[in-house]
Amino acid sequence: MTVGWMGLGLMGERMVKRVATLGEDVIAYNRTPKRMENLPAHVRIAGDPREVAAAARVTFLMLADASAVESVLFASGALDAMKQGSIVVNMSTVGVDESIRIAERVEARGVGYVESPVLGTTKPAEEGKLVALVAGAEPHVETVLPYLNTMAHVIHRLGNVGNGSAMKLMVNYLLAMSMLTLGEALAFADRAGFDVHTALDVLSTSSVWPGVYAGKRAMIEAGDFDPQFPVKHLSKDVRLFTDISGHWRARTPIAGLARDLLRRAAQGPFAELDMAALTAWFRDDGRGPSEGR
Ligand code: NAP
Repeated sequence: MTVGWMGLGLMGERMVKRVATLGEDVIAYNRTPKRMENLPAHVRIAGDPREVAAAARVTFLMLADASAVESVLFASGALDAMKQGSIVVNMSTVGVDESIRIAERVEARGVGYVESPVLGTTKPAEEGKLVALVAGAEPHVETVLPYLNTMAHVIHRLGNVGNGSAMKLMVNYLLAMSMLTLGEALAFADRAGFDVHTALDVLSTSSVWPGVYAGKRAMIEAGDFDPQFPVKHLSKDVRLFTDISGHWRARTPIAGLARDLLRRAAQGPFAELDMAALTAWFRDDGRGPSEGR
């Protein structure tokens, strides 16, 4: 069986290599032509998403957002090139309503749709240790499980399409709040006269020190914000969270402020940096990245 892959960004490039460990032929596409190092012989890069779509029985999407899905899957003609009975697995983080609409359009063509956004960043992606939030028709989920198992060490099966996206946005909302509030806490410590190392030393011995802070500590101390998870994607995720919260009338009054702050952060040079750079953004009052101190 040939496996299709669309989107070779920070995550997709690593995830497709995990899928390739199964030994099946893989055909991958990226909007910007991309050279990938150490690709096994059975992985080929295509110049056109229709080529991927026509060859594959299962096609994975790991794209930035719903407008990237629109362009790569629909506008390109890729969906029309897919075989009846093939399956699209969307691993990109998109909105709940966006995922449901994508599913409707895909299924109207006789193609199955599974959503499987993931928790975890570039290192877990490299190691096959992501957490998959899978939703869609059971037979389709069963078909794609062997591939998901190469990428994820935990698989949550969540029922209907939309549920995986809802859980993904819930987690990333909390992630965003964790980074934003750490940024504020460190800005406060700075004004109190403490360097970032001392402030993090104190915080790390407290009961409010989550795994994400431990994971980002070295980046924050070094002021080195090479992206693992860029600010622009966190900003998108919180926007999607507030959109669907509003629609559902969920009581999430703090989320609007988080969305607005992240929108501002994602408008400037911080957009492409790792979300850990939000700590520097707060200390600099949004004027630009600061040096590590
Ligand atoms: P990324 O590095 O920004 O890659 C995005 C991919 O989407 C690239 O292949 C990019 O192609 C493509 N793309 C963007 N806009 C496009 C458009 N208009 N038309 C066609 N292709 C387009 O993102 P990532 O970090 O791999 O994340 C991918 C998805 O997973 C996002 O939804 C993100 O929120 C989610 N996610 C990320 C992480 C993480 O830690 N990074 C973790 C979990 C989930 P080009 O190379 O041509 O730009």
